[in-house]
Amino acid sequence: MNDATTLVINAGSSSLKYACFQGNGLAEKETARGQIDRIGHTDMKLVHRGLRGSVERSLAPRQGYTDAFAAMLEILTDPEVGPIRSRDKIQAVGHRVVHGGDTFTRPTRIDAHVLAEIQRLGALAPLHNPVSAQAIEQSLLAFPGVPQVAVFDTAFHQTLPPEAFLYGLPYEYYREHKIRRYGFHGTSHQHVSIRSSDFLKKPIEDLAIISCHLGNGSSVCAIEGGRSIDTSMGFTPTEGLLMGTRCGDIDPAVLPFLMRSQGMDADTLDKLLTRQGGLLGLSGLTEDMRELEAAARAGHEQAATAIGVFCRRVRKYVGAYLALLGRADVIVFTAGIGQGSALVRARTLAGLEGLGIVIDEKRNAEARGFEEVCVISSERSPVTVLVVPTHEEQMIARLTLTSDLENMDGRDSDGIAGPCGLA
Ligand code: AMP
Repeated sequence: MNDATTLVINAGSSSLKYACFQGNGLAEKETARGQIDRIGHTDMKLVHRGLRGSVERSLAPRQGYTDAFAAMLEILTDPEVGPIRSRDKIQAVGHRVVHGGDTFTRPTRIDAHVLAEIQRLGALAPLHNPVSAQAIEQSLLAFPGVPQVAVFDTAFHQTLPPEAFLYGLPYEYYREHKIRRYGFHGTSHQHVSIRSSDFLKKPIEDLAIISCHLGNGSSVCAIEGGRSIDTSMGFTPTEGLLMGTRCGDIDPAVLPFLMRSQGMDADTLDKLLTRQGGLLGLSGLTEDMRELEAAARAGHEQAATAIGVFCRRVRKYVGAYLALLGRADVIVFTAGIGQGSALVRARTLAGLEGLGIVIDEKRNAEARGFEEVCVISSERSPVTVLVVPTHEEQMIARLTLTSDLENMDGRDSDGIAGPCGLA
């Protein structure tokens, strides 16, 4: 049995997620996944699920990422539930990194130069890149000599044309300060577009796809021939759709207005836009769509309004991307809300028969979007509407294994991993 394992690490602002995939083909078999939450708090907790068993553990008050990482290493080789017998079974490590700026256009083998660049890009993603860099440092120490690859949320959108990524600011703000639209959720949009093409048995090169990743963070992406040509998130993951706690699109002039009228400073505004807005802010209740749906059914008006704003925003982007693509062969729903909420899917696409989008109510209601790819459009719908489970970790494992590992020791003269994507 080939027990070579690919480890995927996803370091968030207060959590560390990991997953293990066995085999060196397409990393098909997930052997374990887990999560350490509340890093840096006294109630830090590890939840591990795997083919050899599951455990939940409170971790004694510890300090931070170093301890969280140590706890992950411990459980990976745990004699009872660990997915690997020893650390040398790890053949490659894939790291999810949120921001690759316009430097990284594809999965990239990590070396000192790449790590330094990820740290430098922390200026664009202060909540995300620094913790990823920390996890990478730990991982390089724990798995010396093992290929480690950074997979960037932004990389898939590096195909956006200037018409899509430029803001209407003086050009030097782009040139000097790199203020432009980057887009996020790229790994998920890429994953569901490939799965849709496999499912429909149609080459991705021939497909125009609108991908709706609707979760706590949400974005829509227009994909032509497998390439992202536009997406709703921008310079940060705050632009675009209404999200759990992020406001999405807003008139930028609201910000100076609040600064002058309420004396708000940058940090207060940041919090307002990213943590107090969205479904939570509008409903005054919760950011959780399941709870909002239940509240709306029970007559909570603000909950119903928040859901209405959410669906209308997705619908507007679907319309905009239909116009950009000139047509859509497939519309995909994915992530927690996209996979789970028949209500959101139905409201987003209701009444669009004139645009060739016909939802089958029964199929939509019965879709088991967390388990398998489901068609929810009717037989007579020219546009196929799918619900596709996203699996970002598996996509990261595959991208890690297919990212030219054998070439990775070749370095350009400046030490940059040339063949593996540092553009
Ligand atoms: P994610 O960030 O992809 O984990 O998605 C989280 C969001 O998905 C939360 O708002 C959940 O309430 C929502 N969600 C998960 N399952 C369902 C479901 N069955 N129906 C409606 N919303 C759901």
